[in-house]
Formats: sequence, C-alpha cells, structure tokens
Amino acid sequence: MSDETAVTAGNFIRHIIDSDVKANRHGGKVATRFPPEPNGYLHIGHAKSICLNFGIADDYHGTCNLRFDDTNPHKENIEYVESIKQDVRWLGYDWGGRLFYASDYFEHLYEAAVELVRAGKAYVCDLTAEQVREHRGTLTEPGTPSPYQDRSVDENLDLLARMRAGEFEDGARVLRARIDMASPNMNMRDPTLYRIRHGVIHHQTGEAWCIYPMYDFTHPISDALEGITHSLCTLEFADHRPLYDWVLENVSVPCQPQQIEFSRLNLEYTVMSKRKLTELVEEGRVAGWDDPRMPTIAGLRRRGYTPASIRDFCTRIGISKSENTVQMSALESCIREDLNAHAPRRMAVIHPLKVVIRNYPQDQVEQLQAASHPQDESLGTREIPFTAELYIDKEDFREEASKKFKRLVRGGEVRLRNAYVIRCDEVIKDAHGEVIELHCSYDPATLGANPEGRKVKGVIHWVSAVYGIEADVHLYDRLFNSPSPDAEKEGKDYKDYLNPDSLRTVTHCIVEPSLKESKPGERFQFEREGYFCVDSLQAEGKGLVFNRTVTLRDSWAKIEQQND
Ligand code: ATP
Ligand code: MG
Repeated sequence: MSDETAVTAGNFIRHIIDSDVKANRHGGKVATRFPPEPNGYLHIGHAKSICLNFGIADDYHGTCNLRFDDTNPHKENIEYVESIKQDVRWLGYDWGGRLFYASDYFEHLYEAAVELVRAGKAYVCDLTAEQVREHRGTLTEPGTPSPYQDRSVDENLDLLARMRAGEFEDGARVLRARIDMASPNMNMRDPTLYRIRHGVIHHQTGEAWCIYPMYDFTHPISDALEGITHSLCTLEFADHRPLYDWVLENVSVPCQPQQIEFSRLNLEYTVMSKRKLTELVEEGRVAGWDDPRMPTIAGLRRRGYTPASIRDFCTRIGISKSENTVQMSALESCIREDLNAHAPRRMAVIHPLKVVIRNYPQDQVEQLQAASHPQDESLGTREIPFTAELYIDKEDFREEASKKFKRLVRGGEVRLRNAYVIRCDEVIKDAHGEVIELHCSYDPATLGANPEGRKVKGVIHWVSAVYGIEADVHLYDRLFNSPSPDAEKEGKDYKDYLNPDSLRTVTHCIVEPSLKESKPGERFQFEREGYFCVDSLQAEGKGLVFNRTVTLRDSWAKIEQQND
C-alpha cells in the first residue's frame, strides 16, 4: 500500500532495518511475514502486526508472506483460515501469491529433527508430561537431566521413526532438543520439539501425520525456508529468542532470519486473547465472531469500521517495546474522523414522536433538497419529502424545560433541519399522561433561512410520517464494564465483567426514505445521533437494520471525567 497512512514515522524496528539495509545484511533484502495460527478470527491486535509487517514490506520494497502457523490441528480449522485471508485482504494488504502453511514444511521439519538426532542434539524422551515438568526445575533451581538423554543416536532414530509411524500413543514419548537443563532460560532446558497426536484430521495434511512439531522448532525453520529477514513477534517471545537462534544454528537452513520483539496491543474494556474470544463465541455470550461488540476484524467491519480507520489507528499507536493499554477512545476517534469526512448525512428518528403541522396542507408533499455532506459536495444531495405529519425524536421535546434545553418545548419554536421553523401549540397525551402527539404550526417564510429578528434556539432532525421507512437500530456500549477485564482479581473471572447492556436494540425507528436503497455495509451519519452502518447480515427483503458504529462525540471521555 502506498497511501500516506502506511508510511509511518520511524520506530525502533524500522531503525534496525534501516541499518541492516545500509550494512547490506541479508543482501539488503527485507522480507517479513504475518504468521497467524488458524485457531480463531483475527482481532485488532493482529491488525497491529499486519500493518507492521505488510507496511514494512511496502515501504522497503520487500515482501510479506501470509503464513498459517498450523501445527496444532485439534484447535484449528478451515473456517479460520478463510476468515483470516478475508480479513487481511479487507484491511488492504496483498500477499501476492505468497501464501504458506507451516504444514507445507512438515517433511522438511522432520528431516531437520533427524539431523539434530544424528548430531546428538535431540533425543526421544519417555517421561510423562508431568515428569517433564518436574524435571524442568524452577527459575531459581536448575532442572534435572532426563534419564533418556543419553540414548544412542541409533535408538533415537529408530524411536523417532516409530513415533512417526504411529506405534506409540499420545503422550507416550516426545522428541526433545538436548541443550542445557541448567540454563537460566527455562526455554533452553531440553525443550520439546515433537509430540504425538493421533486421531486429528489436519485441515491441510489430513491424516498424513501423527506427530506434530512445536512452535519454537517450526517457526525459525519456516522463516528460514521462506527467506524471511526480520521475524517480528510480540514481547512474550523474547525469552524464546535464544531457542529460535539455537535451532537456526543447529539445523541446515538457507539463511539466518532475525527475531525482533515489540509490545502487543492491549485495549481497554475488551479482551484480546483468542482463547477468551473463542469462549465468548462458544458460550453464546456474543452472537458470533463478527458480533459488532467483538474486537475482531470481522466484528469491527460489521460495526462499520473502515479499513483506513484501522490502519490509521495502528499508525497512531506506534510500535515500541513497552507494554501499555490503549484507550478505546483512541480507536473510536480514528473511525469518527474518517466517517466525519466521508459518510453521507441522513436523518433518522430513533424514538419517534408524532408531530402534526396543523397549518400545512394535509395532503401536500414538498421535495426538499438537502446536501449529503456539509463540506464534500461530491456526495451530492438527496430529496427529503416534507409532509404535514412527521416524526421527531421524543428526546427533542419537553413540556417544560430550562433555557439550556435548545429543542422543542410547549409554546416554543425550533427549526426542523433542512426545512421550516415550527411552533408547538398543543400537547396530546394518552390516558396515562404520556405525550403521544404534538400539534404544531409552521412558518412558510422560514424555509432554509433564518429571517431577521427571529430567535430560534435549536435545530432538530425529523422524518416524514408518510414517506419515512421503519428500521431497527442496534446501539452498542462497551462489551465489558471494567477497563481491564483480563486482570487477575480475587475470585473473579473476565466474564464476570461482561456488560449486560452492551447491546440495545431499538425497533420501529423511522428513517428518511432515501435510505431505502442502502446496501449492507453502507455507512451514514444520522444527524445528531451518530455514525451508523447497514448491518451486513441483513437478509434480502427484510427490514433495514442499522448498527451504530460510534457516537458523534466522545461520550466516554465525559463519563470518565465524571468518575474522576
Ligand atoms: P492470542 O494471544 O490472541 O491467541 P496469538 O499470538 O496466539 O494471539 P497468533 O495467531 O499466533 O495469535 O498471532 C499471529 C501474529 O499476530 C503473531 O505474530 C502475534 O505476535 C501477533 N499478535 C497477536 N496478538 C497481538 C496483539 N495483541 N498485538 C500485536 N500483535 C499481536
Ligand atoms: Mg501464537
């Protein structure tokens, strides 16, 4: 991508790459990869990694591979593979035919394991998982060598081949690297390289394998086979780097990629771990991976986020090595800016209150012209029918109110957006005293103008009762009540912080007729109400459903101030 947002300011990774390119390291080449595990949908944290990896490839005229890290078949499936491809493409990135699977390298990885065994650098270990843990020692105490570490090369080769041939049960044996049981780095204490997994059908390799390589063994070799120069990953892998380098030094590989770690994105009021997101989906806490409250790319898309707003967000948060948590308002302000500049304006009444204009001819219709955007004329105009019966929002009327209330009150005047000034003459109530209708009069001399001397305090939106169309709207709030639902708290689980009011559905809203033809995924500003997007799952022929992407202003900042 060559748009401006992708050309980010320098960060420490770019500085490293700059000096590598200058020193002609890796032959001056830059090759990155984005390596998702297909065990869930991508989330906004992955977007940070995608923008970083693809962004660097673009800016340095290098390449970025999409590689599925698919070594854990019991948690992975093809639905996730497809959704990940769709989301990366939607974000605006193109892997240009460089789509790979770690499973493409299974044979190669096995040969690498054999090479280690031949060199006496790996052995088959019969300890149970439990025993392996016990032998590992602790951060302060060295581990104890496995009683199997001195098996002969021939015995190891034989056992490894029989592991592959399916002779042993799950957990009966593993292949381990022989490094150093006393290493201060726990990852170097003879880490497992291969484990046995029967009875799973891998989405790429089917039943060809019953042993699967571990991430720490797979990743460096996959990187090297693909000619990756800079292998960018999140900070929790910093302690794995010595193992990454050990693998590359001890098996035959065509090049030496370099691992560099950066801090992961954490966002307030949400969770980002795929395990937890999977739980929310599987337990029905949300309506699926693309539920608009989810921090997934699919959820954000359905909520109305644009790819540009997400890329912009990733640019703004930057890349560093320090852990931090980004406020939700930072993400929201990116989409708000984008939609403010680009979304056509429309009128929609969310809580309709009938208004009858008594002095307007009862069967007359005027087609008023209204600009779709206050600045961007290229968005054109649309026609808004004006009729004697129309709807305004309940919130925009009070029988009595202080001077601060700049909307309609009994006996007061207000301007109808893009139309006339009206006055409320009479308030009609039902048997319970609830206001059900307003009788008003309009001033024909006020169309599109504000005559001298006339003090009209406010402008409100409205929709013709005759031509308006019904729609449902989904109003969203944070998925969690706590800014850090993830944090360990006494006896509490992140799900205890789910916000029961995160979705409010309002039915029987009335929207202007020009919205009738709107298509799933189309975005609008509903004047005074926020930015909305036509729900993408809307079935043909069903009524319109709009998802509120974001409010017009940052209402959270206000809430936070009040709480201070
Ligand atoms: P999770 O913890 O959500 O399960 P993961 O790291 O296991 O994430 P992967 O599919 O392995 O998920 O991630 C693919 C790439 O995206 C990795 O390089 C990983 O470091 C990066 N990534 C994942 N989560 C984040 C995040 N929150 N911020 C930045 N990068 C991330
Ligand atoms: Mg991972």
